[in-house]
Amino acid sequence: MFETVIGLEVHVQLNTKTKLFCSCPTSFNHKQNTNTCPTCLALPGALPVLNKEALHKSIMLATALNAKINKTSYFDRKSYFYPDSPLAYQITQLYTPVLEHGELRIDFEDGTHKNIRVNRAHIEADAGKNIHEGAISKVDLNRAGTPLLEIVSEPDLSSADEAVLYLKKLHSIIRFLNISDANMQEGSFRVDVNVSIRPKGDKNLYTRVEIKNINSFRFIQKAIEIELERQIDAWEDGTYKDEIVQETRLFDQAKQETRSMRGKEEAADYRYFPEPDLLRAVIDDEMLSKFSHIPELPDAKMDRFVKDYGMSEYNASVLTSTPEMARYFEAMLEQGVGAKNATTWLSVELMGRFKGDVNISNSPVDALTLATLVKRIEDGTISAKAAKDVLDYLMEHKNSVDEVIEKLGLKQVSDSGAIEAICDDVIAKNVDKVAEYKSGKDKLFGFFVGQVMKESKGSANPQTVNEILKAKLG
Ligand SMILES: [Zn+2]
Repeated sequence: MFETVIGLEVHVQLNTKTKLFCSCPTSFNHKQNTNTCPTCLALPGALPVLNKEALHKSIMLATALNAKINKTSYFDRKSYFYPDSPLAYQITQLYTPVLEHGELRIDFEDGTHKNIRVNRAHIEADAGKNIHEGAISKVDLNRAGTPLLEIVSEPDLSSADEAVLYLKKLHSIIRFLNISDANMQEGSFRVDVNVSIRPKGDKNLYTRVEIKNINSFRFIQKAIEIELERQIDAWEDGTYKDEIVQETRLFDQAKQETRSMRGKEEAADYRYFPEPDLLRAVIDDEMLSKFSHIPELPDAKMDRFVKDYGMSEYNASVLTSTPEMARYFEAMLEQGVGAKNATTWLSVELMGRFKGDVNISNSPVDALTLATLVKRIEDGTISAKAAKDVLDYLMEHKNSVDEVIEKLGLKQVSDSGAIEAICDDVIAKNVDKVAEYKSGKDKLFGFFVGQVMKESKGSANPQTVNEILKAKLG
């Protein structure tokens, strides 16, 4: 009876080397207020100079979103006072953003797609941080002036699921472009959600409520669902007009509710006006052509994996879920490992052994090592079963594959002389079984193979064992 209207604003912290308008580093974990200078401290007389790297990264995003890039864009002042913003205004782009009219495709499990329009993305400077310690509040300006791209979608998303699909896709594109580390926990990918409802079929937009700064996809999903419930309940109770007002709300994870934070300001409240201290930002043809060459994006990579390696869409989506994962897989292929083995050993065996904080980025077993291990199966040095033991060992100890095979005594015996001797021995010990087999009890063949493998302590090459037994038992 109701439909949902969701628009998303995502603040992405660009991984430029220096801040947006000064040469202070953007790196984390420095002592408070040490990454600062007269410009980002807003001392009198200090003037901003635009860091062109922010334009370069904007061009890359524009290319990925198939958006229009504004070759000339301008900066504006958004006035508000907050202790972590010493200028008492934010430098942003209101009237002419660096990019407009993009789109992003989201994919549903049933194979259908939907294109979500991206209204705009603009460059702006981040604020510092207020740190509250008991009764005392402190200000750290290390982050003040760090470049952000704010990416604003049209209200095209019609469920919490769609919103999360959009965010995951955007997050992955940004990671593949490497324009931000997009770490949600550390605040370099911050999401504001605008949620409203309307009766099905109604084309009007009703009061939208903004939920700010939710730092995981799971919480975003939950926050939207809870806020929708609140709005629908109010509509059904006839209290919609009183209860649902344009405002900013916080999602309280512990209480599973959204809570009013402040009334939502209108653009006029910020007294926007063109920034007089900065020149217009110009993108020339040379810059444009240089930065519109972007790395292969996850969608294209996924299609290529399916087509070139004949893998399922599911496997392809796992292997392209992050740039690190895709790089790991492709590095294994470069070592000459077959795509099918590389897929299994990476996505099932290696990832199945990840525990706690261990993931593909800090895996104790690197791509070269895992590739070597798979090659030792492919060339018959060890069995697949033995390779699992080697991998278990390598997860705990840094070592080379060949040394571990040696150390654990897992080398497969393919020497037919040695295997023949074991086969003869097994046959001699089981005269009665041999007679039964010869009289037609074919199933006993597996018994002989098992006995030989047992005698060899699992090191005999099963294929060689099969061949020799077949010959001897006739
Ligand atoms: Zn500075």
